Amino acid sequence: MNFADLGLSPDLLKAVSDAGYTEPTPIQAQAIPPVLMMKDIIGIAQTGTGKTASFVLPMIDVMASGRRRALMPRSLILAPTRELAAQVAENFEKYGKNHDLKLALLIGGVQMGDQVKALNEGVDVLIATPGRLMDLFERGKILLNGCELLVIDEADRMLDMGFIPDIEFICDKLPESRQTMLFSATMPPPIEKLAKKFLKNPKRIEVSRAATTNKDITAFKIPVQQRQKRETLRWLLRHDQVETAIIFANRKTTVRELNKSLQSHGFASGEIHGDMDQSSRIKELDRFKSGDINILVASDVAARGLDIKGVSHVFNFDTPWHPDDYVHRIGRTGRAGAKGRAFTFVAGDDAEAIANVEKLTKSEIPVFGKKDVRVELVEPAAKPEAKSKRDDSGDKPEPKKRAEKPKAKSDKQDKKADRSEKPAKSKAPKAKPETAAEDAGDWNGPVPGFLDVSTS
Ligand code: ADP
Ligand code: MG
Repeated sequence: MNFADLGLSPDLLKAVSDAGYTEPTPIQAQAIPPVLMMKDIIGIAQTGTGKTASFVLPMIDVMASGRRRALMPRSLILAPTRELAAQVAENFEKYGKNHDLKLALLIGGVQMGDQVKALNEGVDVLIATPGRLMDLFERGKILLNGCELLVIDEADRMLDMGFIPDIEFICDKLPESRQTMLFSATMPPPIEKLAKKFLKNPKRIEVSRAATTNKDITAFKIPVQQRQKRETLRWLLRHDQVETAIIFANRKTTVRELNKSLQSHGFASGEIHGDMDQSSRIKELDRFKSGDINILVASDVAARGLDIKGVSHVFNFDTPWHPDDYVHRIGRTGRAGAKGRAFTFVAGDDAEAIANVEKLTKSEIPVFGKKDVRVELVEPAAKPEAKSKRDDSGDKPEPKKRAEKPKAKSDKQDKKADRSEKPAKSKAPKAKPETAAEDAGDWNGPVPGFLDVSTS
């Protein structure tokens, strides 16, 4: 199967080949033809398998005919976080470079001026987080009745409690006769059922069972005492051949404190969570992508959708409370065929959460043990201090504890999303220079205490 068999135009095929893609991924092969036939779609495929292009490519051809009108976007893509919306917009620009299509990115935390100007001039594709879109709609800066195509990326997240009133509001303003498409790697049955009211006779494309984890990710869990988590993390960062890592914690306060602690131990780390102002969020992500830092401590605002090359490791400092988030968090590695490793710390507090994760993914996560260690042991060399720039802020509603702060109003939606946002990659200096012993088993050095717990 190749892209030319899918019914895409020659201009588009050229952009695809310029992007370096030689053949469509399974979700692309299955979704592109029905999208071109204007069908409603529920598309489920694992993280990192090219869902974005599976809707962006056919949309470009569908949008190629027709005319722009002021204030009336012709199509709309919704995403739960600003960073993900921006990433989808970048994809659109890359694939649409041979087409005369105008897009506007409507996200919170940035000035509205340019967004309003773009809307006035007419756009073919609007890419938005719900909060900013609603804001502009309520100010009369945008009309949605000319919008005949709707994509909801990370659809299950967008249709859960925090967002659903906004989605209902927005769908209500769109024409009845539109084409609607939902994409995600996870789709809990109750949410899918709810989703159907926004769809007409959808074609359901399930490339892999929802919530299955990508086979390129090697995952482990590590039983650990709460108070040993930091030390265990540092050990792994130094010894598991970590190039670039995202470390997820459940609470914003943990994100902040953990980042500080890592920095004080000489790691080049930064942080991202939903209470930071947008310019700090962007700055931290850029530092991560550029390799200025190689460790990003994150809330779930970075769990969904972000595609950052070279992320070798994901750590769950806490097991996520929502099992779907596990699938998305670890899905920040192992993208587009690359390999990745994912470690989940399980303290007493995490016991119930990990059981829920294993129930959802229908697989037991192996316990990390001696044979799995990829050690590069040398005497730890001193490391340049890294310091990070950040803002105050906490994260999404945290089921168990507080640690929440009041925030700027405009972007409430995006903060709701704080279970998902996007991270960035990097090729920063490793945490510590280490020698390279390839295989786990090669190591004869001291075994950290936590491994004794887990071996056997
Ligand atoms: P998903 O939304 O399924 O998590 P993305 O759309 O973010 O995945 O794509 C993941 C990565 O795969 C991106 O870096 C993208 O450039 C790359 N990619 C997408 N389609 C192809 C393809 N056909 N061949 C090679 N790489 C691809
Ligand atoms: Mg995606």
